[in-house]
Parts: sequence; structure tokens; C-alpha cells
Amino acid sequence: MREECSSDHGTRIPRAINGRDARAAGSSLSRRAFTLKLRYLALPLAIFLLAQLVVTPLSFAQHRRVSRTGAHSSAARAAFTPADRRRVERAISQTCTERTRDPFGSMPIDEMQARPSLPVGHPDAVAGLRRAERVLPTTRRLVASTILQLAKEYDLYGTAIARSRINAATARVEAVRRVRPDVDSRDNASVLLREPRTIEFGTIFLAGLRSDEAMISVLAHELTHIASGQADALRPLFRAIARRGAVRTGLRIQGQRAEELSCDLVGVMAARQFVKENPSWEPLPRRLARALEHNCVDDDASDEDHLSPRSTIRALFALDVGLASEVLTDGTIGWLVRPQRRLVVQSSTFRLLITDAS
Ligand SMILES: [Zn+2]
Repeated sequence: MREECSSDHGTRIPRAINGRDARAAGSSLSRRAFTLKLRYLALPLAIFLLAQLVVTPLSFAQHRRVSRTGAHSSAARAAFTPADRRRVERAISQTCTERTRDPFGSMPIDEMQARPSLPVGHPDAVAGLRRAERVLPTTRRLVASTILQLAKEYDLYGTAIARSRINAATARVEAVRRVRPDVDSRDNASVLLREPRTIEFGTIFLAGLRSDEAMISVLAHELTHIASGQADALRPLFRAIARRGAVRTGLRIQGQRAEELSCDLVGVMAARQFVKENPSWEPLPRRLARALEHNCVDDDASDEDHLSPRSTIRALFALDVGLASEVLTDGTIGWLVRPQRRLVVQSSTFRLLITDAS
């Protein structure tokens, strides 16, 4: 992975510098030539030359800019630049700020841990369970498609064996039927692989996740454990994701940590796909932040099996820099345009009707 990173930097930087140099040299040469000719030539000819000299470098520059942008964006997908690192840090801060402003923001897990146990019949736990049951079918579908997408992205879908392994994993996800509330699980959710149709969900956790986006990200995490199953079918994918995460963050992501981080990655990607499929007037950054907010802790402790909550957010944004960028938008671009597009469709229909009438 280290080699891949350094070679990406090596090809990108010179290409960008060369492009800029060529443009600068071209335009200063044009200006010199223009000044010289203006002294000796008649006015109409000078005007003609002026038009030629101004138009040519401009169109050249535009052409260069277009091709350079294309090359830049394809390389940027594979590389992780210092600018990406800064974007990740800003996205972490934006996510946790958004949590404090959002009436449906999640409770951080360290706050959940400090709470007294919550009975199954408590209204907040009941509301959480209803939410979990309502979004479970959608989450199953999103998890299956996300696992497939990641397997392709990490080149783990190329052979017949790899494909059958992924297909078996997504079939296990489709078989999950039940969310069982549990007082003693408190701020945790878990699955027993010998009982792979049920997700056990602590009542404090059910109550602390106050949005569909947050609930989907946690359910998707558990469904990904079930997808991997007793066969450990997704182990190669978990390792590949952990390797990339470790290179980009410098964090130690081995053993069970690889699986936990990968489950979280599927969680945020599933939530993001849910947001994309269900546009609303709520700002996009706010809805995306909900998938991560339970990690906005003050007490940022890690253990052998898990990165600390804040390191988890960092690793997730580093793995999905596009998500970090979306969290940092002002909420008026991207998927939120969708409802507006619907309005555009209506207005064009309206225009059509006017045309017919006139
Ligand atoms: Zn887990």
C-alpha cells in the first residue's frame, strides 16, 4: 500500500506542474509577439492578429484545463493527499458540531455508558425498536449492495470463488428477520453467529440513536458481521479495507479491529445511500453526520478489538474522502438538488401546458 501511495504522488505532481508551466509560458510569449507586431502593422491587421493571439491561447488553456481536471480526479481516487488529510480533520469537527445542533443528533456512546439501564417498555426504547424494525428491510438491501460494491472496489470479486463467497454473504444478510431489545446490552448491539437471524440491541442504544440514518448505520454494522458469518467469508475484504485505512491514518488496524472498522464502513455507506434514495429538505451534511455521531465522545478510549470512537470517524473519512467532502458541503449541492429537480419537472410540464393553450 505504501508503494501504491508514493507512485500516485509521483505521477500526479509533475503532471500538474507541467500543465501549469506550459500555459504560463504560452501566454507570456503571445503577449511579447503581440506588442512587437502592433508597432509595425496597420490597424486592421493588428486587430486581426490580436483576435488570433487572444483566442488561440485561451482555447488552448481551456482544453488543457479540461484534460488536466480529468487526469487529476482519476488519480485522486486512489491517492490520499495532504489536502485529503485536512479535509478529513475538518469533516470530523463538522460532524461533531452538527450533532450538537441537530434535534435528532445521536447521543455519544460515552454518554450512553453513563446512563442508568433503560427498561424495554420505556417510550424512548420502544420508539427506537420501532425505528429499527421499520428500517431493517431497507438496511438489508443497502448492506447487500454495499458489500458487493466494496468487493468490486477492492478487487475481491474477480474470480468465481470470490463471487460465490460474496453472494453467500449477502444471502445471509437477507435472512435476518428480527431486532431483539435487551436491557443488559445497554449501549451495545450484537449478533450471535449461531443465531444469525437476530440482532440484539441494547435499550440505551435504541433510545440514543434518534434518526433513521444513525439506526441504519448501526444495523448495517451488525448485518455485516452476519454477512461474514462463521465462515469468516469477508475476511479478505476486511483486511484490504484495514490496510488502506492504516496507510492513510497511521493507526494500527489489525485482527478484530479490521472487521469492526469494515462493519462501520458498510454502515456509513449504507446510510449515505439511504440519504441519496430518500431526499429531504434537511441539509445533506446534517443527515450524513448522523451516521457517525455516536462516536463523538469526550472519553475516547480504545480496546484490543476496536479503534477508539474518534479514531473510527477519522479512519472512515480517510477511507471515504468523498463522504468527508459531502459532510463539508453547505447543504445546497449534491443530492438535495433532487427535490428541486422534481420541481423543475413540474414547471416544465406547466410550461408545456401553456404552450398547448396558446
Ligand atoms: Zn461490531
